[in-house]
Amino acid sequence: MTAAVKHAFQAEVQQLLDLMIHSLYSNKDIFLRELISNSSDALDKLRFESLTRTDALPEKELHIRLEVSAKDRALTVDDNGIGMSRQEVMEHIGTIARSGTKEFLKLAREHHQQQLAPELIGQFGVGFYSTFMVADRVTILTRRFGEEQGTRWESAGGGGYTIEDADRPEPGTSVTLHLKPEDSEDGLKDYTSEYVLKSIVRKYSNFVAYPIRMNVELKEIERDEKGKPTDGAEEKTVVQEETLNSMKAIWTRPRSEVSEDEYKEFYKHISHDWHDPLETISAKLEGNFEAQALLFVPSKAPFDLYSHHTTHRGIQLYVKRVFIMDECKEVMPEYLRFVRGVVDSEGLSLNVSREILQQDRQIKAIRNFLVKKVLETLKDMLEKRKEQYLSFWTEFGPILKQGLLDWEEKQERLLPLLLCQSSHHDKDLTTLQEYVSRMREGQEAVYFLTGSSRETVEKSPHLEAFRDKGYEVLYLVDPVDEVWVERVAPFEGKKFQSVGKGEVELGSEEDKRKAEQARKEKEKSFKDLMDCLKSHLEEDVKEVRLSNRLTSSAVCLVGEAHDLSPQLEQMMRRMGQDVPKSKRILELNPSHPLLQKLQTIFDQDAATPELRDYSRLLYGQALLAEGSPLADPAGFSKLVANLMAKAIG
Ligand code: ADP
Repeated sequence: MTAAVKHAFQAEVQQLLDLMIHSLYSNKDIFLRELISNSSDALDKLRFESLTRTDALPEKELHIRLEVSAKDRALTVDDNGIGMSRQEVMEHIGTIARSGTKEFLKLAREHHQQQLAPELIGQFGVGFYSTFMVADRVTILTRRFGEEQGTRWESAGGGGYTIEDADRPEPGTSVTLHLKPEDSEDGLKDYTSEYVLKSIVRKYSNFVAYPIRMNVELKEIERDEKGKPTDGAEEKTVVQEETLNSMKAIWTRPRSEVSEDEYKEFYKHISHDWHDPLETISAKLEGNFEAQALLFVPSKAPFDLYSHHTTHRGIQLYVKRVFIMDECKEVMPEYLRFVRGVVDSEGLSLNVSREILQQDRQIKAIRNFLVKKVLETLKDMLEKRKEQYLSFWTEFGPILKQGLLDWEEKQERLLPLLLCQSSHHDKDLTTLQEYVSRMREGQEAVYFLTGSSRETVEKSPHLEAFRDKGYEVLYLVDPVDEVWVERVAPFEGKKFQSVGKGEVELGSEEDKRKAEQARKEKEKSFKDLMDCLKSHLEEDVKEVRLSNRLTSSAVCLVGEAHDLSPQLEQMMRRMGQDVPKSKRILELNPSHPLLQKLQTIFDQDAATPELRDYSRLLYGQALLAEGSPLADPAGFSKLVANLMAKAIG
């Protein structure tokens, strides 16, 4: 046996511990939930490992045990799970390999002097370290299943930890807390009290699949056959072991028998979310591939939903009530990654690996079933509980829209769930269904304009004719909108058409014909001027033409039907893609006085350099109006200044 070796904590761990030791976080009870969940994970791992190893499970039933010593002010959480080798203790306790830790520490610093937000602790899984909120010294005695040698780890939080070989008769782990004194102001309870422990376990760990046992004291008195205390009998204290949690897998119980509170509690248990879920979905897949699922739509998006290295808990996979894995991505597509819950399959083998899951027919069937259920629930929410849906949409709308980019997804299931800003409403959002019901007679397309915000889109010159003629335009201002709208199938037979692309003709057939004719006439008379402007803008535009969409602005830039939108082009460049510069079309408003004035200048001297400057000014204005950046802002501003000097002079 070796002597205890002293180690320093990794700097980040020390910071975390200091935070825990001086924590103002009021709900200190959660340390027990964290320890029990670690034990439960360790038991899962043992059960799982025993499926693939020949040495059997321990003879004793898998369990978690709470032991208290009021005299020593000590609480132990003991399990006969997988345990840890010395190496594993060194790796798991005292170093953090988690991606979220830095962010956690940053956020915690920002919250300095305030209460640490409860959801932070769960989301970042600072798990074990939370014990230092309630204990001034913590000891771990552990032995890895399959190994003979045990390990003792001990720390008082500050000043590092010690580690040494130690005896432990059976594999498993016990974590002993040397508790800080009770202090109600600080939220510290008496964690040796039976009552306190029972209530914390019921609150947080009721559905843990292993029994959480504790010795409880019962007062007994001798009674006669009629149940009356016998004469002179004295009360005796008997110690008895009790199981504190219900363990019953909640998803196997009929919905009518489970209360809303139980569902909420279960949701919080699996998601580590502090808020109630927005919606609970329980579903049963019958037939060839039987499975039961209990799913939740959270009410708030986790802070890292958009980050690439998230630790989403996602969906837990069970096979016949046996836990198989967390974050089973195979049963839920990316665009529904906010859904939490459990799916329990009857038919899968306990030995499934991730590789098998990816091609498994049952998993495919389960996934299709779950997606269908979630989308149906959302549709129902939209139709019957609009307020609730709006709050869902605010949190998860942009993620749901990613489904429109999913090749395997049927767009017609998702399009009806979309909410968009629109020129019809100042603030409210519209569904596509509502848009279509308001369409003008003869309108063949769903008109939209993309951009970076409602404010820029709303002021865009492209909208002028649409606004004047009373055509509604959707404002698609989410970056993902740029992408899906380019490849989406028609909605109820109406194709999506950008008001910033192609030629537009609005109104009745007769109106269209007249407008077209008038434009042709005008085009003839302005043809030479147009050619001249184009020659000055050769590098930037492929055509200069008269516009049907402008009614008050002088110019705008449009693309051809299949061109990328300027926003999408910018987006792709930001992502490092090599997008060739695409030339667009400069449209001039035929009824703007500017056009006539330019014509006059042109008639006087077609070769004057003034026309070159005016072309640049027109092009620059068109870029600014749609919210695009200027290639040469300084040059543009010089032109404007010169023009002003001339006008004032
Ligand atoms: P988390 O449980 O979120 O991973 P913790 O800091 O609570 O974070 O635990 C770190 C690691 O220590 C766990 O992932 C696990 O590998 C190991 N561990 C903690 N408690 C136990 C236990 N009771 N039995 C076996 N391993 C444990």
